[in-house]
Amino acid sequence: MFLVDTHCHLDDYRFDKYRSLIIQEACNKGIKKIIIPSISVNNFEKVSNLAINQGLFYTLGIHPMSINQGSVNNDLLVLYNYVKKSKNFHANFVGIGEIGLDFYDPMNDDCIDLQKKIFIEQLHIAEEFSLPVILHARKSHDVMLKILRSRKKISGGIVHAFNGSYQQALCFIKLGFLLGIGSSITYKKSSKIRKNALDISLENLVLETDSPYMEPFWKSSYDWGISSPCELFKIAIELSNIKNCSVDQVIRYTTENILRIIPQMAF
Ligand SMILES: [Zn+2]
Repeated sequence: MFLVDTHCHLDDYRFDKYRSLIIQEACNKGIKKIIIPSISVNNFEKVSNLAINQGLFYTLGIHPMSINQGSVNNDLLVLYNYVKKSKNFHANFVGIGEIGLDFYDPMNDDCIDLQKKIFIEQLHIAEEFSLPVILHARKSHDVMLKILRSRKKISGGIVHAFNGSYQQALCFIKLGFLLGIGSSITYKKSSKIRKNALDISLENLVLETDSPYMEPFWKSSYDWGISSPCELFKIAIELSNIKNCSVDQVIRYTTENILRIIPQMAF
């Protein structure tokens, strides 16, 4: 039995110094598989090389907060070509992401329209290559659901760091999505996210650290002075405490879930 960190930005420069040691230690702690999502055309190279060299997995996509207005069309073309090449040559390539909609900061209609356009264009690519998608959603779940419902060929994926309502969770599940559970559940004040973690069935959850960005409450006791995939086992324990089940059960379900939607990760 092993754990899968379904969302970790291992390419981040803060990992540069100890990256290989951290990957090794995570593996020793049972975190055998890691998905590294890219966020812009600028990190496709680093993300894909890292995954290929370390036996990890990667996705390609343009994050809604990394959209470069001046080069949108060219960036989408770069993405398309990179996806085509990766799909043909690299078994480590497993999907489109992270992509999505982020309406956290108040923004004008032009920004919203641009985010929607890039999101939809990337869903097209996922459809063309029959790939799962890794979604980033903040204050945008209903708009996102509406777009996803209109795209019949999207075959699901993961809503990473899910922070919507229970009703919205059920809608994503109906569309074939798993919901990402991460460090936020370790904070007692995150009552909505903890309640979701309790209410949503284990068959629909996956684990993630979103490191080095998201930090669990025990951040003072990191081994590496930074949030890393090594923290995933403790997040699994926290979820088992919330759900009042065994940590083995959490690991078994969440790993089976990710392997169900991305079967090539079993190898
Ligand atoms: Zn992320």
